[in-house]
Amino acid sequence: MTKQLFIKTYGCQMNVYDSARMAELMAPLGYAAASGPESADLVILNTCHIREKAAEKVFSELGGIRRLKEARQRRGGRMIVAVAGCVAQAEGAEILARAPFVDIVVGPQAYHRLPDMVARAGAGQVQDTSFPPEAKFDHLPESREVAGVSAFLTVQEGCDKFCTFCVVPYTRGAEYSRPAGEIIAEARRLVAGGAREVTLLGQNVNAYHGAAPDGGSWGLGDLLRALAELPGLARLRYTTSHPKDVDDSLVAAHREVPQLMPFLHLPVQSGSDRVLAAMNRRHGASDYRRTVERLRVARPDLALSSDFIVGFPGEDAADFAATLDLVRDIGFAQAFSFKYSPRPGTPAATAADQVPEPVKVERLAALQALLGEQQRAFNAGCVGRTLPVLLERPGRHPGQLVGRSPYLQSVHAEAPSERIGEIVAVRIAAARPNSLAGIVAPPGRAA
Ligand code: SAM
Ligand code: SF4
Repeated sequence: MTKQLFIKTYGCQMNVYDSARMAELMAPLGYAAASGPESADLVILNTCHIREKAAEKVFSELGGIRRLKEARQRRGGRMIVAVAGCVAQAEGAEILARAPFVDIVVGPQAYHRLPDMVARAGAGQVQDTSFPPEAKFDHLPESREVAGVSAFLTVQEGCDKFCTFCVVPYTRGAEYSRPAGEIIAEARRLVAGGAREVTLLGQNVNAYHGAAPDGGSWGLGDLLRALAELPGLARLRYTTSHPKDVDDSLVAAHREVPQLMPFLHLPVQSGSDRVLAAMNRRHGASDYRRTVERLRVARPDLALSSDFIVGFPGEDAADFAATLDLVRDIGFAQAFSFKYSPRPGTPAATAADQVPEPVKVERLAALQALLGEQQRAFNAGCVGRTLPVLLERPGRHPGQLVGRSPYLQSVHAEAPSERIGEIVAVRIAAARPNSLAGIVAPPGRAA
């Protein structure tokens, strides 16, 4: 009998990947996707712990789920509630105590055991937040149902860097790289299922050092070169990178691999050497500038994205000015910026020199104004150009499709839905702050 599964995903692309794998794990047990939590037999909240209010958001969402579960029980039905992801990892015991109707708490390294946990859920609350010694990937099903033409593929997990603001090393555990052969096989299955683009994922994806098919070890550059050999795989991307781990082989891949898209998310966090040192980022602002320069020499049309934190403990006006200088020097096509949020258990959370909230608010506004200006200028610079666009899905208006440019911009254009999955030449006619619009060139016109 078919049962219904509802997964709500918070946070990064790695959680999106994990949610898809959890759905695949539960499919052989008869679980199919539910349209909402109301009708679900199993509800999974796949949570994120990276910034503040994450746990509060989960508890408030759980309040609604509890009402649905009770309503279902009154009708004689049953709903299993699971909390997965990084909040589950960090606050599992508290979740079970504060929300006794939660049946399962499962950490990001243990979700391959979900079917067993669901089977045991009737007999009381079940928690698994261990970091199992065996790799979870060995226990995940091989089948990959591709949800679209663009797919995620996790190649690396965890982090050993211990930036002083970040919970990832605590919630995701130590760095682990999947063997290259396993990744290539998964990519092959994704392409067979209809994917044209694959984005390699890792908390620290360019720290990748997996076992090579020939017995040695491969870095991310080697892996990209091998994946580029797969017939039908038209586009490759990877995220998220650490500036310290951009090695020569990876830079060369940007020059040599045409499938590798000219867009890179390379978080810098701050432009101040003093702040970068306090963050334990292991590089200075000039190292970042030099890395970008090397990448731009290899791939002159490379567009950049980044992450920034404002108001890190001890950040003064001169430090923040250095961040604005770096942004002006580099020029970003797009970026994410956040106010520093003390994360329990991380060294920076207890630093004495916390920056007052109004200062953080003011700095964030100034930084976002500058980044927004750069993004608008980058998008405006695309008008009049013809870009290769991978058509991904129907748009909001009838007859419209949405695709992605090489620079990850959403591009709206009119085209029949049969063309989803094709890379077409689109002449860009208009730029909006977060997307482009254009006209598909007649077939045969190269982008
Ligand atoms: N591994 C990536 C790197 O080294 O840059 C970042 C991964 S983290 C999941 C994504 C982003 O969240 C970070 O780049 C950082 O800007 C932001 N972030 C992490 N911890 C934060 C905190 N405590 N407060 C504010 N932003 C934070
Ligand atoms: Fe977090 Fe990235 Fe630093 Fe690792 S390298 S601790 S994931 S910010």
